[in-house]
Amino acid sequence: MIDLNKDVKYVKGVGPNRVKLLNKLNINTLKDLITYYPRTYEDRSNPKNICDCFDGEEVLIEAVATSNLIDTRLRGKTMQKLQVRDETGTCTITWFNQSYLKKNFHIGEKYQFFGKINVKNGRYEIVSPVYDIKGINKNTGKIIPLYPLTYSLSQNVIRKIIENGLLEVNNKLEETMPKYLLDEYKLIEINKAINTIHFPKDFSEFEKARKRLVFEELLIMQLALLSLKNNYISKNGIVFDKNAKMSDVINILPFNLTKAQLKVLEEIDSDMESKKSMNRLLQGDVGSGKTIVAMIAAYKAVKSGYQVAIMAPTAILASQHLTNFKNILDKFNIKCELLISSITKKKKQEILERLSNGNIDILIGTHAMLEENVEFKNLGLVVTDEQHRFGVKQRTTIAEKGQNPDVLVMTATPIPRTLALILYGDLDISIIDELPPNRKPIDTFAVPKNNSMEERVNLFIEKQIQDGRQAYIVCPLVEESEELNLNSVIELAEKYKESIFKNYRVEYLHGKMKAKEKDEIMSRFKNGDIDILVSTTVIEVGVDVPNANIMVVENAERFGLAQLHQLRGRVGRGQYKSYCVLKYGTRGINTKERMKVMCDTNDGFIISEKDLELRGSGDFFGTEQHGLPGFKIANLFEDMQMLKIAQAEAIKIINEDPNLQDEKNLVLKKQIEEKFTARIEI
Ligand code: ADP
Ligand code: MG
Repeated sequence: MIDLNKDVKYVKGVGPNRVKLLNKLNINTLKDLITYYPRTYEDRSNPKNICDCFDGEEVLIEAVATSNLIDTRLRGKTMQKLQVRDETGTCTITWFNQSYLKKNFHIGEKYQFFGKINVKNGRYEIVSPVYDIKGINKNTGKIIPLYPLTYSLSQNVIRKIIENGLLEVNNKLEETMPKYLLDEYKLIEINKAINTIHFPKDFSEFEKARKRLVFEELLIMQLALLSLKNNYISKNGIVFDKNAKMSDVINILPFNLTKAQLKVLEEIDSDMESKKSMNRLLQGDVGSGKTIVAMIAAYKAVKSGYQVAIMAPTAILASQHLTNFKNILDKFNIKCELLISSITKKKKQEILERLSNGNIDILIGTHAMLEENVEFKNLGLVVTDEQHRFGVKQRTTIAEKGQNPDVLVMTATPIPRTLALILYGDLDISIIDELPPNRKPIDTFAVPKNNSMEERVNLFIEKQIQDGRQAYIVCPLVEESEELNLNSVIELAEKYKESIFKNYRVEYLHGKMKAKEKDEIMSRFKNGDIDILVSTTVIEVGVDVPNANIMVVENAERFGLAQLHQLRGRVGRGQYKSYCVLKYGTRGINTKERMKVMCDTNDGFIISEKDLELRGSGDFFGTEQHGLPGFKIANLFEDMQMLKIAQAEAIKIINEDPNLQDEKNLVLKKQIEEKFTARIEI
């Protein structure tokens, strides 16, 4: 039997250096390697007539040499030129400094060349193509896979490593789908599918392989979601008190709730009063006012005699929630506490005791709340804020601390409704589709990174500060390491402190700082004691400082659009005109187009659709964003149809066999466990 979990370092062609690069791509085992699917393919299999080629096109031509390879000199460099012809035209093939190629070409012999063709004034030229002698298919004559993101591994190298991995597997993969499904949907078997997805002979073969793998991936996800849902619908939920009125809180707020907030609260209210337990997703764009909704629901739960857990992804956000909750709920004698990992042992002990006695009504905290020794007396409502930062399992872990409590999950990652229905198949959905009226749209500018622009941007920041406002500067993401991220934040902050902004108060913030330091910086920023906050993306989620009205994002091209939108949501939260400046470098795919989307709209839903379109769902629906395992091959944008089919099949399977115990479904169960437990235990 083939051991798919064996370390990728044992695959032929993988030395110590390459293993590191592979690990960066999350390729650790043989299985990871052979399921690292191509991003796209280059068709080097279909020769084109020379006269049919367009300027700039990547083409394969099949042509006879009509000259020898001839050296010419140009400014100290040598250039090699070869004349070739097919039935329809002639073409010049050019190389630089590669005289040694001479021996490879002979007049009258036929070759295949693949490369970008330049067409000028009826002359055709290909520079530095790959080539084969006609009849040999080493570099041409076939479809070549192109792999996504490879760090310093060249396409040739990673292709070769994967080829070696497949040779090692040698068609001995065990089938991972039940036979009845393969038959019903006419899917090809696993070995053929995996081999073909890397090295398809033609595109119709490729389509079959892709269909099988996409269907499988989507089906497994749907089955996993449905199993989760099954876990809780069967149980009876808490019936909260009709006399605990949400309007008690609504009436004392310093502002009027928006129509959308009120509508959502009605839905929550009726869920809470009904016998069925609430499992609701609250979606609302950044700044739409979700916190207050959670607070009002929490009020109702407490006044009905239950405790509430509010879980946030960062300590900064949790403390901010605590302040907001206390501001309002203190008036009702409701006791709120904060539980984050940085508090002292003594304080923690005290909180845990009061919690289990029922002396704390609302516990607000981070992952620290998931620990086993955190026990409630009677937990009745669980709220997770910024759901996209948590795994599906984490929200069930916290819910298990009560007797089937109501659950509200909040997210600011807007996704198209159709997709939400499918992805969050286990949740009901409420949407806040309106911003509070005092908001002014944020003006966004995308500027190329260069000295003169830098100067202009800095002057603009300075002007805002002189007007009494505050600024965020977000540092570039450094993918390679967290360490480098910290360095870049500190460096940038020091630079500003010493030179350009030396007359202002500049501080920095990053994820690795102690929670206490972070809180201190954040509260100073909130109080207006810091003018410029240089930060990593830790401020991405939820932070609320209405006086800050300008955000500058360094190397904006490295961020996803959904993430930029989240970041931008930190400004425009008060009555001041707000600005977002996206500085971009040239690296990155369709940078200009993506920057334009950000400048054109403030609407999170439009942005998320564009993001999906431009990046593909592989990234968009990655673990980070939704707590679901990222897709390896499915693309929710293109594969919507397939998703519907997979969903229907999953429903059918779960109805017939809710726990996937049937012999025929065991392979499915195994896959779900493998795929989902890995992140479940974080
Ligand atoms: P998000 O949905 O991004 O979590 P918040 O809940 O942090 O947004 O709300 C952003 C800001 O808007 C907060 O300062 C909050 O007090 C304020 N806010 C919420 N609802 C309203 C409203 N109806 N009118 C005015 N301001 C509001
Ligand atoms: Mg929020």
